[in-house]
Amino acid sequence: MKVAVDNRGYYGKFGGAYIPEMLYPNVEELRQNYLSIIGEESFKKEFDHLLKTYVGRPTPLYFAQRLSEKFKAKIYLKREDLCHTGAHKVNNTIGQILLAMRLGKQKIIAETGAGQHGVATATVCALMGLECIVYMGEVDIARQKPNVERMRILGAEVRPAKSGSKTLKDATNEAMRHWINNPVDTHYIIGSVVGPHPYPDMVARFQSVISQEIKWQLKEAEGTENPDYIVACVGGGSNAAGAYYHYLDNKDVNLIAVEAAGLGNNSGESAATTVLGRPGVLHGSKTLLMQTDDGQVVEPYSISAGLDYPGIGPIHAHLFDSGRAQFYSVTDEEAMKAGILLSRLEGIIPAIESAHALAALGQMDFSKDDVVVLNLSGRGDKDLETYIKWGRY
Ligand SMILES: *Cc1c(COP(=O)(O)O)cnc(C)c1O
Repeated sequence: MKVAVDNRGYYGKFGGAYIPEMLYPNVEELRQNYLSIIGEESFKKEFDHLLKTYVGRPTPLYFAQRLSEKFKAKIYLKREDLCHTGAHKVNNTIGQILLAMRLGKQKIIAETGAGQHGVATATVCALMGLECIVYMGEVDIARQKPNVERMRILGAEVRPAKSGSKTLKDATNEAMRHWINNPVDTHYIIGSVVGPHPYPDMVARFQSVISQEIKWQLKEAEGTENPDYIVACVGGGSNAAGAYYHYLDNKDVNLIAVEAAGLGNNSGESAATTVLGRPGVLHGSKTLLMQTDDGQVVEPYSISAGLDYPGIGPIHAHLFDSGRAQFYSVTDEEAMKAGILLSRLEGIIPAIESAHALAALGQMDFSKDDVVVLNLSGRGDKDLETYIKWGRY
């Protein structure tokens, strides 16, 4: 089975570019140029150099001995938590800012919910000396003070979105409006494998460095490039897409996607899109999303800000629909316990997003020699308040 995007931006039934007429020239400029730019030797050289010297790649593939004993399989952790800024998101923002500069853009906009993508964007704008405006819902600004201040320290302007529920979707609307009004000098950096084509494919390509490294690192460690399982959490799905990318067509490798079930999938407080969602259009692409009978987006809930999203990227909708990936969902409670477990067994405090992937190990059935690679998407520093509030450690 080929899991590749077609030239209109579809993965099976999902994807495409559902955008207002006014946005068409911006998205079309990107679509026409992204493959040739990221294929240029000079682009690849600069991207690889920054990933190595600035982000700290390759990130280790760590054999987790005590975790392996606990779950009775050979478990390796891909340490994206060791990336500069503490998560995988910077792989994508580096790629997109290099692309933006080659398109002659001088200004960058982004939207952010919890602030993680905003910080990763503000970081690369500081690195390159480009102006940065990050749209953020007024409610989120109040909830996420440390990340707001991080962005400001890095020199970004954080603009409050004051309409609607004053959260991520309103920030996205404001960013779109800004882009429509400033098409010539501005690039819009989207932070996951979501949005209109070519964003999902472009972001997946930038994150594919994760599975590119897993292949040779696992070969060194186990004598084979192919694990039996790759496990990753899915918010929009960029860390998962990166970890799966070079294995998509290899049926020997089982792809495991883990969504956030919040307080439980039947509680009305969940973010498990493949359980609760139906096909529809979200942020410019056709995908699965949580919606009411008349098509209004349902507010998702998860303890983890990075998984608190009402949809998934179209590649994941397709992986679900085709059966290529298996989807699990994990509650707040299960994720928090898994976060503490990893801290105690391996001395690694994970991001609560990544703790969802860890918790899924407890739902899976392994044979003793199974090789599992778990993508540890981020570190827990940003989540210390949440760990403290939860309190049971
Ligand atoms: C943002 C984030 C996620 C979720 O985003 P994806 O696009 O699904 O990867 C997961 N883990 C961490 C640490 C994050 O910061």
